[in-house]
Amino acid sequence: MDEKNLTISIAHLYPKLLNLYGDLGNIITLTKRCKWRGINVEFEQINIGDAIKNHDLYFIGGGQDKQQEEVADELYSQKSELLAQRDDGAVFLGICGGYQLFGHYYQPHDKDKLKGISLMDAYTVAGKKRFIGNVTVKTDFLNPQTLVGFENHSGLTYLQGETKPLGKSIVGNGNNGVDGLEGGRFMNVFGTYLHGSLLPKNPHFADFLIELALEKHYGEKIKLSSLDDKIEIDTHNSLIGKPY
Ligand code: GLN
Repeated sequence: MDEKNLTISIAHLYPKLLNLYGDLGNIITLTKRCKWRGINVEFEQINIGDAIKNHDLYFIGGGQDKQQEEVADELYSQKSELLAQRDDGAVFLGICGGYQLFGHYYQPHDKDKLKGISLMDAYTVAGKKRFIGNVTVKTDFLNPQTLVGFENHSGLTYLQGETKPLGKSIVGNGNNGVDGLEGGRFMNVFGTYLHGSLLPKNPHFADFLIELALEKHYGEKIKLSSLDDKIEIDTHNSLIGKPY
């Protein structure tokens, strides 16, 4: 199937609250990389009070504990819809605070536990130390294998059951600074601590997610054409292995 004039629908969840360190750049990258190929994007912003409808790809950014509190109950109220979307092959990308809410719960410092939507079998507890700095992740499913970004979190995330990491944090702390893992992946749900924003300097991951979203929409694998990613890949390569 030719990519021209295909369509995918993308929802940006709670951008007015969870959009730390330019996480909006992930939405810009996804939509631009579709439009440059002639793929139509049906885009919807979901804010507090909005019902979450069917989409091929859902994105949620990071935020301070306070903003997470404002979003958690709202997200949880639509948990069954989102779990059904996951089981139907929808793609999810959550960054940091959004990633933490993809698990069963996030326990902040001396506050009530925030319920997650259990899109992946994981949980997060606030740690004593804030992890701040560049991160390089080595994956086993991307080409190139690396992901680069920036972390700033006190939450420590632990993966369980069938949930796999995005990869090993070869620079930086990743999920919890102990098990050497970064991010989480279950079915087409992806979470990571990498801000930056992530996708502009990891175009291969952006295209990987777009191809999954196209497969969700059309029920068959569709290989995207290549774009001239020299600037993006040079930027990516310049950050590999750099702690600051
Ligand atoms: N508030 C969460 C933490 O500190 C998430 C922070 C973020 O999204 N950068 O771990």
